[in-house]
Amino acid sequence: MNQKTTEAPTCQYCSKEIQRTPGRGRPRKYCSDSCKQRAYELRHPASASREGARRVSDNTLRDKLFELRCAAEDIAIATNEGADANEIQSLCDELVTMAKKLERLQ
Ligand SMILES: [Zn+2]
Repeated sequence: MNQKTTEAPTCQYCSKEIQRTPGRGRPRKYCSDSCKQRAYELRHPASASREGARRVSDNTLRDKLFELRCAAEDIAIATNEGADANEIQSLCDELVTMAKKLERLQ
């Protein structure tokens, strides 16, 4: 059965209702970045434990790289789901902005 939900989207991690963000057509899958991260860590337990151990020390760069990877994955998912060019473009813009911030950290 192919069910397409038209109701308010809920977070795939904590099931909380997700606030729709105006200006972006695509519903988010998680209510917050931390839920997104937790969900990702659930899917990749090995990287999570390594990540967790390192996070004891202040490791901003690693966190940012992680966000960058998530953003790249978002683009891949959006492409897979047949998102239109404008949407892909805006996701790419976010990725580039993020990467530029990363450059300044070093
Ligand atoms: Zn959540």
